[in-house]
Amino acid sequence: MPTRISLIKGDITRIQADAIVNAANSSLLGGGGVDGAIHRAGGPAILEECRQIRNRQGGCATGEAVITTAGKLPARFVIHTVGPVWNKGNNTEEALLASCYRNSLQLALDNGVNTIAFPNISTGIYHFPKDKAAAIALETVRGFTNTNAGISEVIFVCFDDENFQLYQKEL
Ligand code: ADP
Repeated sequence: MPTRISLIKGDITRIQADAIVNAANSSLLGGGGVDGAIHRAGGPAILEECRQIRNRQGGCATGEAVITTAGKLPARFVIHTVGPVWNKGNNTEEALLASCYRNSLQLALDNGVNTIAFPNISTGIYHFPKDKAAAIALETVRGFTNTNAGISEVIFVCFDDENFQLYQKEL
């Protein structure tokens, strides 16, 4: 069965998917934006698990992903991935952003996740250009789900109008 790709405008902490993805930072200790919203809504259990992962492996590198349970959220898991900070496209930002989506989907598959919701990673505080980020997100998700069976639905959750309109155009 082909993976369904859907689009929602709203708050990812309210989404009832098997897993929601967090745009975390490499400390895994919480931050602003969607990261702050997830920890606020999910309660302290998520941060405690992040601390344990940090103690074990020293945080999470850019482009990588780790998984925790979801505390009080309606989801079962939170997959924390660290997006690249945009630096004029001079480094490997585009490849690293694609890695975030790919590694999150792989971790989802490894944990029996069928439905997964993504925020627009790196397009807030990390200033990745929203149009480029949307194109990379869609291309990477389509590429992964076309070659890996097991995920039934990927939901893109856009918080701001600009991202929502970009995804609407691309889908
Ligand atoms: P980053 O540091 O990766 O840029 P941010 O959290 O600053 O992370 O922003 C990533 C995206 O998450 C932005 O597009 C922002 O609009 C969006 N966002 C912020 N809060 C929420 C939320 N509660 N649900 C979904 N998306 C959110």
